[in-house]
Amino acid sequence: MSVVIHGATKIDADGIVDDFWVAFGSHSILATGIGTGWHGWATADGVSVVNAAGRIVTPGFIDIHGHGGGGHAFDDGADEIHAALAVHRAHGTTRSVISLVANPIETLSASLAAIAELTASDELILGSHLEGPYLAPAQRGAHSQKHLGTPNRDELAQLLSAARGTLRQLTIAPELPGALDAIEQLTDAGVTVAIGHTEADFALTKEAFDRGATLLTHAFNAMPGIKHREPGPVTAALGDPRVALELILDGFHVHPEVARIAFFAAPQRIVLITDAMAAAGANDGEYTLGDLDVTVAAGRAVLSGTDTIAGSTVTQDAALRSALFDSGIDPVLAVRAVTASPARALSFDERFGYLAPGFASDVVLLDANWFVTDVWAAGVPVAQTNAVP
Ligand SMILES: [Zn+2]
Repeated sequence: MSVVIHGATKIDADGIVDDFWVAFGSHSILATGIGTGWHGWATADGVSVVNAAGRIVTPGFIDIHGHGGGGHAFDDGADEIHAALAVHRAHGTTRSVISLVANPIETLSASLAAIAELTASDELILGSHLEGPYLAPAQRGAHSQKHLGTPNRDELAQLLSAARGTLRQLTIAPELPGALDAIEQLTDAGVTVAIGHTEADFALTKEAFDRGATLLTHAFNAMPGIKHREPGPVTAALGDPRVALELILDGFHVHPEVARIAFFAAPQRIVLITDAMAAAGANDGEYTLGDLDVTVAAGRAVLSGTDTIAGSTVTQDAALRSALFDSGIDPVLAVRAVTASPARALSFDERFGYLAPGFASDVVLLDANWFVTDVWAAGVPVAQTNAVP
């Protein structure tokens, strides 16, 4: 079965093309072009043809940092992961990394092993992200203090072996004892190391990047900000072309003007993540994140009884609209931040993130106001069940 979409305005990191068409099968994009060249691809048996005049077509979105959605938490096992991902998929996120909050090492090992199985059976799952336990206690955010720890070789080897090659990302505070050595051990094992939940200054963050870290976990959140005499981790990341910066654009985590400055300073290296907890695409109310209680009101999630933000309730299409309309980001750069840049951050950029032959059949159609109308993930149409924008 294959699909031909024609007449759309294509936007990806390569630029904007009007009257664009794309033909794709279940595995990969077969051909693209402009005008009427799609006719030859529309004659085969079983091909479905979509006239997308007036709409925007982009590659599928890639979320490299999320914790759940639709009332379901990624920490709670395979069924909950699938249910949460279905909600994000309807909002355009076709490939996802499963993030885990700090927990006892045995619990994390079991979760990593379960996600390794899911990664083998569901090609839309890219692997796992350990956000804890190697975080600075003073910047722990919504991670339980009692589960935080410091890294050592044997423990990391245990986690790596549980993940069987599917641990894609690990967040670490570089000031912890053993952290810089851990960065080398992890990057040697093919893991993308992110700096985050940290009190590190500019110099230490630079050193962490020199030791192999290539990502900043939710820039500005759970780390020192930018001061004119204390430039901090964000400035270190913005100034280093090897490093990508995660950003949560949900209206609460980062001011739109600060987001605009980040895009201006590193236009090719901003990655819009959701960091979504279970309430994304679901109702306000009481939730849990790991073993912490979270209260969600008007879409803002906080640790119950505190003012500490506990993840977001955003979906990537909403983050994209925030970049476009609240921060005024150029559409090519905004789309890049949910497609090519996250793919590149985790070294998936030869397979995901562009609408070009050979790339995965992950395609999103949006209306002129940037609301998702159709999604194909690995060539399969995704049910549009989302009533929540
Ligand atoms: Zn997170």
